[in-house]
Amino acid sequence: MRNFRSLALTFVLFTAMMAGNLFSAKASEQDSDPRWSIAIHGGAGTLDPDRMTPERRAAYEAALQGALDAGKAVLADGGSAMDAVKAAIIPLENNPLFNAGRGAVFTWEGRNELDASIMDGRDRSAGAVTGVTTIKNPILLADKVRTDSPHVFLMGEGAEQFAGEQGLETAPPEWFATEARRSALERMKANQLSALDVDHKFGTVGAVALDMDGNLAAGTSTGGMTGKRWGRIGDAPVIGAGTYADNRSCAVSATGWGEYFIRVGVAQEICTRLRYRFQIDLNAAQLTVPKDKEGNPSYYIHSYEMPLSLEAAQEEADIVMSDVKDLGGDGGVILVTREGHALYSFNTTGMYRGRATSDGVNEVAIFAAE
Ligand code: ASP
Repeated sequence: MRNFRSLALTFVLFTAMMAGNLFSAKASEQDSDPRWSIAIHGGAGTLDPDRMTPERRAAYEAALQGALDAGKAVLADGGSAMDAVKAAIIPLENNPLFNAGRGAVFTWEGRNELDASIMDGRDRSAGAVTGVTTIKNPILLADKVRTDSPHVFLMGEGAEQFAGEQGLETAPPEWFATEARRSALERMKANQLSALDVDHKFGTVGAVALDMDGNLAAGTSTGGMTGKRWGRIGDAPVIGAGTYADNRSCAVSATGWGEYFIRVGVAQEICTRLRYRFQIDLNAAQLTVPKDKEGNPSYYIHSYEMPLSLEAAQEEADIVMSDVKDLGGDGGVILVTREGHALYSFNTTGMYRGRATSDGVNEVAIFAAE
């Protein structure tokens, strides 16, 4: 039975290749029809449909769609993945519904300390900042670190000084502070609760994109977790944990319990797994190709003939997210692969999210079942 199956598979593969052929047709379709793709998130967590009023839901959906539209417009116009990621994140940072920029959570001392990071899959250049308090759009500062400094990661006062030299827009503390986030801190202190008890969800924002030139980019921005102390830094500004982009595989942005995402190295782990998965699948397919008289393969499968499937990418992302769960962490990721698949993986009851592609996909969703 097993023999017959592999024989049949060999026959199907071989016939398709020789016939001139299935895989190349797909590849040339892709060449003549460049594609773009984008995914965004506004945090994952314990979301209860019964506690979500229609008005609140509409406000979240409008905000997500607005961010998605801003990123889509850049990509559909032939713009870069890097520009699309920034265009999608800025409105989310400016929207007090999300825990990034305006609306960031409070530290134990009652301040809003912001983290952000961004990465370009073309050359894996990256920029990140942590603990900034006056920069209106931290994602733009992270990108300036990438383009205009010799470093990758700047913190606190030094990062603010660099921002001043680069002429970045600043805002006073009142711009970032919201009543809802302040009362979450007060409840946490009064009832000795954890950040998860008062936040229920992680409101970090992020975007990942593939542009028509085949370049990938990822960005993430956050206020961290309510009541964070002692200069705590989560995964969002840590390249490889909360953000990663590599043109050879994918772009990832994460949200969740940052300590676990750092320990697993979630974003880079997903990209690495995708890169090897592609090679493993290619090798396995090559083994099914019949040999010639000399015992050499009668055909060598080209890498462009075996694009990584959506299912394979989903499987790899899910494996990494269940690893996070096994350690005791929760949250989620968005990713876009180099083939243009846009997907999510999360182990919480919901994640504010959206995705769009040049193939006509356009959706925003909140709860797991959607
Ligand atoms: N990952 C963020 C952190 O740990 C929190 C979030 O996703 O909202 O700082």
